Amino acid sequence: MGSLLEREVLPLVAKPHRYVGHELGVVRKPWDAAEARVLLCFPDVYEVGMSHVGTQVLYHVVNRRPAWVMERAYAPWPDMERLMRERGIPLFSLESKRPAREFDVIGFTLQSELTYTNVLTMLDLAAVPLRASDRGPGDPLVLGGGPCASNPEPLAAFFDAFLIGDAEDALPEMLEIIAAGKRGQRERLLWRLATEIAGVYVPGLYRVPPDGGTAGPIDQRLPFPVLARTVPVLRPEDHPHRMLVPMTEVAHERLPIEVQRGCVRGCRFCQAGYLYRPVREREVADCVAIAEEGLRHGGNEEISLLSLSTADHSEVEALVDGVSRLAERRGVAVALPSLRADAFSVGLAAAASRVRRTGFTFAPEAGSERLRRVINKGLSEAEILLAVERAMDAGWPSVKLYVMVGHPTECQADLEELASLVERIRDVVKRHPGTGRGVVLSISPFVPRPHTPFQFERQDSLEETRAKLRWIKQRVSGRGVQVKYHDLDGTAIEGLVSRGGRETADLIEGAWRRGARFDGWTEQLRMDAWRDALEATRGSQDDAFRAREEAEALPWEVVSYGIDRAWFLRERRRAYAGVPTDECRIHRCSACGVCDFEVLRNVLAEEQGVGGRVEGVGSEATTPSHPHTLQPPAAATVRLRYTKDAPLRFLSHLDVLRELLRTARRGGAPLVYSEGFAPRPRLGAGPSLATGWTSASEWLDLELAGEWDAGRLAALLEGLNRHAAPGLRFLAAGVLPERCLSLTAAVERSTYRATFPEPPFEPAFAELDAGCRAFLARDVVRYERVGRGRGGQSRTVDLRPFVYDLAATDGCTVALELRTASDGSAKPTEILEAACGVPRHLVPLIQIHKTDTRLADGGSPLAACLVTAGDDTVETGNSDQWQPAGDPRGDSGGRHPC
Ligand code: SF4
Repeated sequence: MGSLLEREVLPLVAKPHRYVGHELGVVRKPWDAAEARVLLCFPDVYEVGMSHVGTQVLYHVVNRRPAWVMERAYAPWPDMERLMRERGIPLFSLESKRPAREFDVIGFTLQSELTYTNVLTMLDLAAVPLRASDRGPGDPLVLGGGPCASNPEPLAAFFDAFLIGDAEDALPEMLEIIAAGKRGQRERLLWRLATEIAGVYVPGLYRVPPDGGTAGPIDQRLPFPVLARTVPVLRPEDHPHRMLVPMTEVAHERLPIEVQRGCVRGCRFCQAGYLYRPVREREVADCVAIAEEGLRHGGNEEISLLSLSTADHSEVEALVDGVSRLAERRGVAVALPSLRADAFSVGLAAAASRVRRTGFTFAPEAGSERLRRVINKGLSEAEILLAVERAMDAGWPSVKLYVMVGHPTECQADLEELASLVERIRDVVKRHPGTGRGVVLSISPFVPRPHTPFQFERQDSLEETRAKLRWIKQRVSGRGVQVKYHDLDGTAIEGLVSRGGRETADLIEGAWRRGARFDGWTEQLRMDAWRDALEATRGSQDDAFRAREEAEALPWEVVSYGIDRAWFLRERRRAYAGVPTDECRIHRCSACGVCDFEVLRNVLAEEQGVGGRVEGVGSEATTPSHPHTLQPPAAATVRLRYTKDAPLRFLSHLDVLRELLRTARRGGAPLVYSEGFAPRPRLGAGPSLATGWTSASEWLDLELAGEWDAGRLAALLEGLNRHAAPGLRFLAAGVLPERCLSLTAAVERSTYRATFPEPPFEPAFAELDAGCRAFLARDVVRYERVGRGRGGQSRTVDLRPFVYDLAATDGCTVALELRTASDGSAKPTEILEAACGVPRHLVPLIQIHKTDTRLADGGSPLAACLVTAGDDTVETGNSDQWQPAGDPRGDSGGRHPC
């Protein structure tokens, strides 16, 4: 399947690298010897899935066991899904390209209701029956986990089993049983999983009463409710030290470290705050060790300290200090994405983000103090304004505010106060003209979530939400405030599904059959499909959005995270009375029921608490040190020659540049950064190489600190090649003189080999040869170049001046020698289209390999030395190797360099 994909499918899709599986750290294991084989499916696009730290943890936890194999699949984007269906290609794993059906387990991580239709796409492409009741002995087990498994009922019809809660212990326990049994024993396997492994819910063994409500077990030996698994401590061995590092750009470019799990701030709308109790911290030394090994392996440019509320780690200063010191040494940034909107967080973030600062994010969640008491987000307006003031003083360029509309008890006065708060924040930002770029107000509609005190609440109708958003936008937009909000159709789907019961499966399947895919992506969302499916299932939005009675049996109560309904109801009443519930790690335990105070309990913070830690960190915040100012002032521009081979063929030019920088960091190259709030490595690249092409000769300029002689260049090459991903090899390095052409100006001539795949072209040598000769014989070859993007302007160009030579070398190969100049260039694919009559839609199937690139005189590293990899030869510049090019219509030029 791999070669079919490579030759005939991937060249025709957008972002083919999504389906290649060539990440750094990818695990490939012998298939036949494996005792359990799991396909981990992330039902969203690759870029989102590769940014999810939980997937990395599962991949590590399973693959560290020699006898088990875990491979991955992500939801194919619609262009890929269409081609897979046309060519009969089943869902396959990235690592071994095996069909999903060959795995013992297909496991889905369920992060959002907006990915549910993608689950069905993936099952359908896998040729696994959608409904669990239709599966037989030959089918893999379909398992689900993740936060959306907290209400498993809407998906119950499609899954054989769910794992509720933390997976680090429970998943290996499940795989022990699955490895011991085999597919033929499906029912027995499911029974064993449900009865022997705590935290496993097998929907087929539970029945919903005829009048609806909560499903109950069909046998008293089954657990009820199914209690979520919670690992008592975050063990260092469970966190991957060497992560999967994608080669292509993903949603979050960072080395993620989970520094803490759980948050007991008690925001009453926040599901994660209840699913992940109690707070478990990772030891500071473990975090630093993970960061160190991760950077050495991955070469990332940012470390992200992840948790629901990083500032609440009881040793947060030591944590930030330890990781920041390490980051400074390597010139990478530290990010703290989840911080409270208080001054302490500002100081902390200032201490951490010593390299790169984008906007500062606050999440007051509600505009009025009254409403913040209702939702238990105990922040005063004065605290918020002080935090903004300090963020501006510390030099942040902008402020982003996250709020929700539609909280229980919200009224017009709360919206008025929200508008006033935003205006006061804007005034603070405006008082800092040097730094303040304005305020972005990001608004999400409230969706009541299972297992929260607000699980009983009504959700605003779309009309009500729309009216509130319109009012806020009219009131605060412009004059330094930008208002952004979520797609309301996505919110509607979340509301339809999140508190649903088993009947919701018909709605999800109905929407999917009508074409719903990627519901979290505005440009893909098909709300008409959902509306039609809702009508067909006789459901109603009003019914899904309605308030639940306090005595009503709720579908999700078949599982429990340790907090019972009585506690949630008590919290709900406190919310209506505006009574806060203390953060139980520092203050009183409110007896939610999660802790047993022996194995499971919160990590206790120091007595001085959150407020007492501001000073030391804050003083650092106002005078942030800059690691790069510590580097030796001497620096040189080093020009590197490298190859991009088949494994990286489907990387875009930008992805290759990103990977080159990661390789440089892994190889210990002392990169020099630009100044300012968002320092970037100083680099120069030549003309871009298109996605799908390979090259034996690419060039990159890197500014590197220090003096560079031949010995140091040789060590640099050796270090780079030791850390380069398969498909990348550095061939030569040289120091540029002070005055030297940039790469874009220096590249003047490139040679290519174009290989036509036999089907569908079946080219004859004579035809190709005649086409090439005819092309060269013409003085002018007009070609219509199509403009980029929708509405892009097409224009006619003359290709002939850019072609030195063009010749068919056998039945399926053409050699090209092309000129690059300041007045333009031509792509080999354009030449082939014009010369050989290749239909435009088939052009991506031609394999293009750049065999050489010639730099103009003055673009080569003549002033110092050129060091080649492999033989330790040190060459001084040789003008013979860097001759200027001749005229394209005359002599085909001098010899090629290197
Ligand atoms: S049992 Fe008490 S200490 Fe533990 S999470 Fe619940 S409220 Fe906090």
